Amino acid sequence: MEYDYLIVGSGLFGSVFAHEMNKIGKKCLVIEKRSTIGGNIYTQKEENINVHKYGAHIFHTSDEEVWNYVNQFIKFNRFTNSPIANYKGELYNLPFNMNTFYKLWKTKTPAEAKEIIEAEKEEYKTENPANLEEQAINLVGPTIYKILIKGYTEKQWGKPCNELPSFIIKRLPVRFTYDNNYFNDLYQGIPLDGYTELIEKLLDGIEVKTDVNYFDDKEKWDAIADKVLFTGMIDEYYNYCYGELEYRGLEFKSETKDIENYQGNAVVNYTEAEIPYTRIIEHKHFEDSKSDKTIITYEYPKTWTKGEEAYYPVNDDKNSQLYEKYAKLADDEDKIIFGGRLGMYKYMNMDQVIKEALNTVKEEQQ
Ligand code: FAD
Repeated sequence: MEYDYLIVGSGLFGSVFAHEMNKIGKKCLVIEKRSTIGGNIYTQKEENINVHKYGAHIFHTSDEEVWNYVNQFIKFNRFTNSPIANYKGELYNLPFNMNTFYKLWKTKTPAEAKEIIEAEKEEYKTENPANLEEQAINLVGPTIYKILIKGYTEKQWGKPCNELPSFIIKRLPVRFTYDNNYFNDLYQGIPLDGYTELIEKLLDGIEVKTDVNYFDDKEKWDAIADKVLFTGMIDEYYNYCYGELEYRGLEFKSETKDIENYQGNAVVNYTEAEIPYTRIIEHKHFEDSKSDKTIITYEYPKTWTKGEEAYYPVNDDKNSQLYEKYAKLADDEDKIIFGGRLGMYKYMNMDQVIKEALNTVKEEQQ
């Protein structure tokens, strides 16, 4: 065999796996169907701004091992995600915190805010919430639900909240401090020079072929390596023999503006149902780029159809059961390993993807 490992997909999972295997002397070949590396974390420099081409990506983790791992390759800035919500032209701080409550009810102390939220919850609570709407109202009361959750969630999932399962929202953190930091993690930041640099460093010294779709010549690729790590769609691998797994799609529309600063924040969510996009990203604010122009991206959730880029797995009962059938086939494979968000049909943040990839490397070495 020419290679120890053929790695299908140059996303974060494939790149971490390739790096670790290369480090221990295994010969790897990475093939990637896109013309760029990095999968969905790919960033591209335009107007001196690193543009997140597949949606805003903020690195955050509480896992010391993962944080140290990425910091071997690149440096991160001290970006703190503090999104703003725009509902019918009014602005609210996220996550729900004392600033949000002041805007909603003019409450100034935690006790005042708690009293209102608890009274609302008590008045509108449902014993066994049957859908997302009832669940959300149980957790935060109807005012926050109506202004900051309902429209956004309906756009995201393409369905009314009272037709969505309650499990989608398990917790809705409500913070009684004036803290707009969206994440609770210990570490957070954006790579100083974009995520593509991380992938380039991971793949340094490894053979990579872009614009190559594994399925166009599967037999040829399988024949040149002892083992295959596949990070594409698991149902596609098995030729959809049990049926198609579902995803939510996304469409990005970017504009370059001849002004220095468009919205004053990296992320502004639009929480009313009438506006078709869920958020506007202004890329330069992730890293305070020096440019007299700015680039913004509108994010439109949409129904996904086969052949399009798949973004979010729909982990409802129906799809989870279907995935289990594919996972059983995968368990019986000797030559092929499935990894990443498409291979494992699971939404994972970047830190989880790194952790999973490192675990897969460990399992391979046993
Ligand atoms: P991918 O990035 O999808 O990589 C898989 C690669 O395989 C792709 O490049 C694909 O082209 C290639 N491939 C597939 N099939 C084939 C084939 N047949 N032949 C050759 N190549 C193939 N995480 C965070 O931690 N913070 C965030 O803020 C964040 N924001 C996100 C925003 C959005 C809109 C989305 C969708 C995700 C976000 N994530 C975020 C999650 C993050 O994108 C993932 O954790 C990560 O990109 C997954 O890496 P992966 O390698 O598993 O998958």
